[in-house]
Amino acid sequence: QAGTAIQNLQLLQDSQEQARHDSLTGLLNHSAVLNALTQELSRAKRTRHPVGVLIADLDHFKRVNDTYGHPVGDTVIQETAQRLRETARVYDHVGRVGGEEFLIILPDCDLQALRECAERLRTAISDMPFDTSSGPLTITVSIGATVGSPDHPVSPALLRKMADYALYRVKSRGR
Ligand code: GH3
Ligand code: MG
Ligand code: MG
Repeated sequence: QAGTAIQNLQLLQDSQEQARHDSLTGLLNHSAVLNALTQELSRAKRTRHPVGVLIADLDHFKRVNDTYGHPVGDTVIQETAQRLRETARVYDHVGRVGGEEFLIILPDCDLQALRECAERLRTAISDMPFDTSSGPLTITVSIGATVGSPDHPVSPALLRKMADYALYRVKSRGR
């Protein structure tokens, strides 16, 4: 009986894990990474640390799909996810929030540190070509950034909007 109970618990944990993760990349899914943002902001209220928020979107990704096909596009998304995960700090939350759009939550990260992190993530994508079945592809990413400060608490939704707006601006300025 104990064995069955343990097995059931394992199955429950597995399905909870699956519910939090994106199946293509293994990153946190949209709702899980938004939960992480909410939790980090309420933790930051107590610790009085700033929280960094980054939104990364691959540049001209439609061209990759159109030129090389959707499966190659999927490979690029998977490799992007891996590079973001490897480059982020262990306690950062990395999620996939759209086709080729990623939300990264960085606890205890001020503007200066966030700038450095964003630049590290950007070059992790652009500096090494992606290995695909159509050969090596050079991919670039644009990143919008904002910091939630304990002195000016704002809602998770507004913080996300501000990062989105920064992304929109960097896209319109040439990516
Ligand atoms: P921009 O530089 O402005 O971001 O240009 P873009 O072409 O990347 O534009 P956008 O971000 O709007 O394009 C997203 C594209 O991603 C559109 C869609 O065809 C593709 N896409 C969305 N989800 C997936 C997916 O799971 N796999 C693949 N291969 N493509 C996807
Ligand atoms: Mg894009
Ligand atoms: Mg996009």
